[in-house]
Amino acid sequence: MIVKELHTFPEPNLTKHATPIEYYIDEDGCFICVSHCEDKDGYRKIYRDGKSQRLHRYTYKVRTDEEIDGKLICHCCDKPGCCNPDHCVAGDHVLNMQHRSERNRTATGEKNGSSKLTTEQVVEILEDQSSSPKRLALKYGVTAKHIREIKNGVIWKHIKRKKTVTKSKPKMAPSKPLIPGNHKLKKHWNKKEKASD
Ligand SMILES: [Zn+2]
Repeated sequence: MIVKELHTFPEPNLTKHATPIEYYIDEDGCFICVSHCEDKDGYRKIYRDGKSQRLHRYTYKVRTDEEIDGKLICHCCDKPGCCNPDHCVAGDHVLNMQHRSERNRTATGEKNGSSKLTTEQVVEILEDQSSSPKRLALKYGVTAKHIREIKNGVIWKHIKRKKTVTKSKPKMAPSKPLIPGNHKLKKHWNKKEKASD
């Protein structure tokens, strides 16, 4: 049996009742904590500074001395149980999503196995303003629903859409009833309808 060497994470203000963070280093250089329990998502929990928090956030904060409230701390190594501050980056949600797509956890467009269309075809579809979804569906061998989803930006979101230049409509004069008296007539009929109720 291989006994893994345990390390203690240095904490500047460790109180004597607090359990020190102990970990071993795995083959990827990840700090796998053995002293603290994990939560339902696989992150280690730790109680410090009067609150329960995720261990990787805490070790990141201790190491970098950064203010991380309201920020996401993302694992580059993809191991929620890792508390190596060098494997964590602070970022917002967008950054987290970027990491995801970089690692192809989220398949997009052509990379997505179910996609029949190429990027070029999608651009063509987006540029074609005159054909109906049904017509385009026949042309490209997909469903009309698929075309509508492309047009509405539900799928292939990453393709930049050209802003359609809408010609400014000539300003209409404030609407007047076309035939004077028509207005009155309508009112009259409305009244009549009500009366017959
Ligand atoms: Zn790691």
